[in-house]
Amino acid sequence: MLRIAVIGAGIVGALVAFRLAESGEARVCIVDESLPGSGTTSASYAWANANDKTPRDYFDLNSAGLEEHFRLRDELGGAPWLYPGGNIEWAGDGAALEGLEHRVERLRSWGYAAEWWRASRVNEVLEPQVNFPGPDTPVAFFPHEAWVDAPRLAKALVELARRSGAETRFGNAVEEIETEGGRVSALRLKGGERLPVDAVVNAAGPEADRVAALLGRSLPLESSKGLISRLAVEEPLIGRLVHSQYVNLRPDGPGRVVLNHGWADQKLESDTARTEDSLSHELLEHARRVVPALESAEVEEVRVGVRPMPEDGRSCVGAVAELPGYYEAVTHSGVTLGPLLGRLLAREILSGEVDDLISPFRPDRFARAR
Ligand SMILES: Cc1cc2nc3c(=O)[nH]c(=O)nc-3n(C[C@H](O)[C@H](O)[C@H](O)COP(=O)(O)OP(=O)(O)OC[C@H]3O[C@@H](n4cnc5c(N)ncnc54)[C@H](O)[C@@H]3O)c2cc1C
Repeated sequence: MLRIAVIGAGIVGALVAFRLAESGEARVCIVDESLPGSGTTSASYAWANANDKTPRDYFDLNSAGLEEHFRLRDELGGAPWLYPGGNIEWAGDGAALEGLEHRVERLRSWGYAAEWWRASRVNEVLEPQVNFPGPDTPVAFFPHEAWVDAPRLAKALVELARRSGAETRFGNAVEEIETEGGRVSALRLKGGERLPVDAVVNAAGPEADRVAALLGRSLPLESSKGLISRLAVEEPLIGRLVHSQYVNLRPDGPGRVVLNHGWADQKLESDTARTEDSLSHELLEHARRVVPALESAEVEEVRVGVRPMPEDGRSCVGAVAELPGYYEAVTHSGVTLGPLLGRLLAREILSGEVDDLISPFRPDRFARAR
């Protein structure tokens, strides 16, 4: 039986490990320098979607990724980490509104669920607490999208992998990858343990370039930071993802709301005068304009996560031809894509079959450093 080590127990590694272990065709060991789900997976906005994903092949991948969450739920008989209910978004006017209109049109023409509702109807049927610019404001509704309690999913799938026989080494970093005759042959862990393997999956998220470098491979990442602000609320105020001009909100269980927005992420990198706490409070001010009942909400936690982003912005999934036995699973949108990439990469490792969905996203596009 193949001995396979998965490096990283975030949402991506957990799903790869689960699929390998449940196949019964591999002896799996999951290694993480920390705990399952504690990396970027725990600092994510965690919106499962293919909403603004272009070009077409990346949209198709993300769209299949969103579907895979529902497939996994049906397969397991439940998914307490998956929160369907869709996403609403509205724009100001002018270019912003035009952009949203074009996106909705494109998504519809690609077969993605996208509807227009009047704000007054959204207030009546979906979100009574949301304050729109006016009752006739056009609101785009993407009914099939969802948010995910990603750390919970990663932990649950590690546990299922374990029940299928996977071993785990947590709190123990991979420091060396040995090769024999050019093939991956063993891992060495910080604690000194040596794990003989036939294959290894690099699912180390934003640290994946360092893991690749252990084999002399250059995996160029342009990872970017993002800020998540978690609020404590007294009662559920919103039922789904809410995207507005200056703040995005989603529930995070009944007593919490999570905030995030691209402008805050940019300021995090470019404006040293603004601290994480001040950005979080600016987000909260915007959020109070969108949901006035957030007046009494308090910031409970501010997290900065690092998006694992291959330099061309596209996923990096599959075997590396020059390094037999070495595979990569590194991507932004990993919350959307984790379950799909887990299934497709496990199939590739076990059977050599490369699914059409991942064939445009091969690691071999990044040449190995010599
Ligand atoms: C602010 C923000 C918002 C986001 N919003 C969304 C969104 O709305 N939708 C979406 O789909 N995606 C989103 N993402 C991206 C998504 O969260 C990530 O793509 C995903 O979490 C990556 O998961 P991962 O398993 O690859 O990495 P991680 O969760 O980081 O897991 C990697 C693991 O590898 C371990 N590791 C690293 N190096 C080693 C080593 N040498 N030895 C052993 N273990 C090691 C780490 O400890 C870690 O646990 C967002 C990200 C951020 C930061």
